[in-house]
Amino acid sequence: MKVLVATEKPFAKVAVDGIRKEIEAAGYELALLEKYTDKAQLLDAVKDANAIIIRSDIIDAEVLDAAKELKIVVRAGAGYDNVDLAAATAHNVCVMNTPGQNSNAVAELALGMMVYAVRNFYNGTSGTELMGKKLGIHAYGNVGRNVARIAKGFGMEVYAYDAFCPKEVIEKDGVKALDSAEELYKTCQVVSLHIPATAETKNSINYALLKDMPKGAMLVNTARKEVINEAELIKLMEERADFKYITDIMPAANAEFAEKFAGRYFSTPKKMGAQTAEANINAGIAAAKQIVGFLKDGCEKFRVNK
Ligand code: NAD
Repeated sequence: MKVLVATEKPFAKVAVDGIRKEIEAAGYELALLEKYTDKAQLLDAVKDANAIIIRSDIIDAEVLDAAKELKIVVRAGAGYDNVDLAAATAHNVCVMNTPGQNSNAVAELALGMMVYAVRNFYNGTSGTELMGKKLGIHAYGNVGRNVARIAKGFGMEVYAYDAFCPKEVIEKDGVKALDSAEELYKTCQVVSLHIPATAETKNSINYALLKDMPKGAMLVNTARKEVINEAELIKLMEERADFKYITDIMPAANAEFAEKFAGRYFSTPKKMGAQTAEANINAGIAAAKQIVGFLKDGCEKFRVNK
């Protein structure tokens, strides 16, 4: 069995070493395609792969067509919108993610960006504090839960809304569960976004939802840029000089945001929520273990194209 690690942005060496250990201990062969610059290189590398580990790499119908021996793709990370799930299912390929492995890294970044923003991007002027502010967690999954844990340490009043997570689960963490996204945005001065990008959530963070946020509002996005309706967010920020947008996923309209909203807009230059040594190692090794479990025992625990 051949397991291909195909990463345009490679894992840290220590993570690759860990992946290799898992794969070779199972008696499989590991192949590496790192820092590729052309899709043709990926199409060539997948030809004889039985399993692929990826990060933000795109696995579309063309790649799946080229990968004749492929049984499984594991996205080392949480979001799997870079994989064409319908095409994978049509090719009888199992797709998994590695939930939870990078959540603390993303949560720490979210809180770090909040501090950075309330302290006026460390420009030497007097800012405000997070303590006592109402934080709304939009989606109480792996990242959302870690954000709640850290935010409580800051003394924030923590609220959450999740479309699928039962309220009791949220409340047992000492977090106030609300009934709708609308209620969350109306209640909280700071909202941290953790919804996945799905057909339902794309463009869903819009003017109607954001306009009712309390004075001094701040939206922190460590989820995906696709969930934001950028044109409507720009309109809102033009109308509300008190509104800050802080994101780990650079908007398509980055230049316009930067020019119009200096002092209340910040984007990381490159998505870096999961970019820690710990998350890299955890997600890579989890992906390797999941591949071995699937190929040896048929374990489909983290399958996302059911
Ligand atoms: P997760 O799957 O653990 O949690 C997602 C949560 O969203 C679930 O609890 C689910 O019930 C909820 N949800 C789904 N649809 C919803 C909706 N319409 N309304 C409200 N809640 C909804 O995922 P996670 O690990 O917490 O990650 C969340 C997202 O963050 C990922 O989908 C990914 O896009 C993004 N992410 C970004 C980075 C980064 O580097 N910035 C890293 C990891 C994850």
